[in-house]
Amino acid sequence: MSVSDLPPAEELDRALRDASPAEVIAAALKTVGHDGLAVVSSFGTESAALLKLAADVDPAIPVIFLDTGWLFEETLAYRDTLIATLGLKDVRSIKPAEEALSREDPDRDLWFSDPDACCRIRKVEPLARALKPFAAWINGRKRFQGSARADIRVVEADGARLKFNPFANVSREEIEAIFVRAKLPRHPLVTSGFRSVGCMPCTSRTAEDEDERAGRWRGQAKTECGIHTSKIS
Ligand code: SF4
Repeated sequence: MSVSDLPPAEELDRALRDASPAEVIAAALKTVGHDGLAVVSSFGTESAALLKLAADVDPAIPVIFLDTGWLFEETLAYRDTLIATLGLKDVRSIKPAEEALSREDPDRDLWFSDPDACCRIRKVEPLARALKPFAAWINGRKRFQGSARADIRVVEADGARLKFNPFANVSREEIEAIFVRAKLPRHPLVTSGFRSVGCMPCTSRTAEDEDERAGRWRGQAKTECGIHTSKIS
């Protein structure tokens, strides 16, 4: 399915802006069909909520997980726990290209010298490759996360495909309610004070009175890895 076969993102956004997250996921599936849709998940602290709703709609929707080579062991274990708990049938762990790693990050210190380049070779480029077969993707960003996420729409155009944000206008309390209702397991690092978990070198604990993403790239102007701020072609 090419982008010209898809309904305009603005039209879908108007139709879905007050829909529930489950309705948004179901609409995404109806719009592009089973072969055209993927969920992208970090298997982070809130990921189980979106994965649970997606699995309820169809556990065979492909889930793309970017295994950057810098993830916590706890995140990899949590991925496996959620696969088993939710019955996810098609989780694809995507690694960076070896050739890019040896050319641009042979000493594994690019995260320090140029984090944008590190995110490009470990996240943005692998995601672009993984999304090639799909006409639309779903992710778990919320407006309450603030910063660059404060104004996200429920449906956006993203280069060659559509991007659905089923949690765009849900509250933190609604996410928590999904966890409680479905008895979802928590990310193992939550109890150690991590409220948002990414790569090891770029993640730190956050205090209760801080923004939940304050521990990501702490002390730097960077707040996003780039998969949501650059068009994925
Ligand atoms: S979050 Fe940090 S370690 Fe992970 S890809 Fe980006 S810069 Fe590299």
